[in-house]
Amino acid sequence: MRKVFNFSAGPAMVAEEVLLQAQAEMLDWHGTGMSIMELSHRGAEFKTVVDQAETDLRELMTIPKNYHVLFLAGGASAQFSMVPLNLLAENKKADYIDTGIWSKKAIMEAKRYGNIHVAAQLDEGGGLARIPSQAIWSLRQDAAYVHYTPNETIGGVEFHWLPQTGQVPLVADMSSTILSRPIDVSAYGLIYAGAQKNIGQAGITLVIIRDDLVREFLPGTPILYQYSIQVENASFYNTPPTYSWYIAGLTLAWMKKQGGIRVFAERNQRKAQKLYEAIDNSGGFYVNSVDPECRSRMNIPFNLRTDSLTTLFLDETKKAGLTNLRGHKLVGGVRASIYNSMPEEGVDALVGFMQEFAQRYG
Ligand SMILES: *Cc1c(COP(=O)(O)O)cnc(C)c1O
Repeated sequence: MRKVFNFSAGPAMVAEEVLLQAQAEMLDWHGTGMSIMELSHRGAEFKTVVDQAETDLRELMTIPKNYHVLFLAGGASAQFSMVPLNLLAENKKADYIDTGIWSKKAIMEAKRYGNIHVAAQLDEGGGLARIPSQAIWSLRQDAAYVHYTPNETIGGVEFHWLPQTGQVPLVADMSSTILSRPIDVSAYGLIYAGAQKNIGQAGITLVIIRDDLVREFLPGTPILYQYSIQVENASFYNTPPTYSWYIAGLTLAWMKKQGGIRVFAERNQRKAQKLYEAIDNSGGFYVNSVDPECRSRMNIPFNLRTDSLTTLFLDETKKAGLTNLRGHKLVGGVRASIYNSMPEEGVDALVGFMQEFAQRYG
């Protein structure tokens, strides 16, 4: 049994079963006498890891056949460049939805490569953050794609509906929400996600791309940033981060064994509800400033009355084995990240602590 519940936003908690299996296999992977990290990425052994990871991912997410799955390096941030470099060659226009800090980073990078229009922005009127309804978005019919961030990891804002973009491909940065609930992959042109939140270990990034979007890239695009070269080489143009790939594979297999995405979605719903109830029923001792319609089920930021109370809360939670609850440095406060690998007992422990702390200092 592990000693703490880690509420970090990423790198985040990894399931205990996954860590134990990695530990058991560390010195001798499947009778090879070698660690998986010592095996050739081009060998038959590692190929079984790669194939199983893709099979499990396709099954978990019901990924249609006309989508490629890539496992790339560079983190989600590399996709901030790769998406425009590859999708803006024909028509240099793209629309972006700005719902927070990660959206802004994607927008800032895309602006280097084309005509980027921010079609909608988070509404923070009255001190309550909300995603503007699509009725007031200013989408362009001739954009090459629409980019959005279904879950803003720092602000704790999440879409609970699917943007409708007609013929214009929808591109989603799912770093902090992928595999947390069922989605219809066929509604997207491209999905990307760094692994360190819901798929295991930092170092590898998933890209799910519809085959018609693998095409001509902007002149000067570095070879590793070309989707077409990565597709042609099945993510093996150069040496991929093999150990991260392996941990992602163990995590996907663990998810399947747990019953798949529906089981996690129900659990995530319950976990988030418990935490929001603890906040909302605290008589204002804890405050979350996101409209209930678009509150995140993965990252739950909240504030206490004063900075000194926040510091005390963070010190005491840490002593109680509830770690990494400090909010992102740009926004302060407290943030509980409760991805798939956070067990329900972790949330129960936090809720219990919050109630007791509020009684003492309320
Ligand atoms: C964490 C995160 C990123 C950045 O991921 P890196 O792997 O550090 O590049 C981008 N987008 C979202 C939504 C994230 O949560």
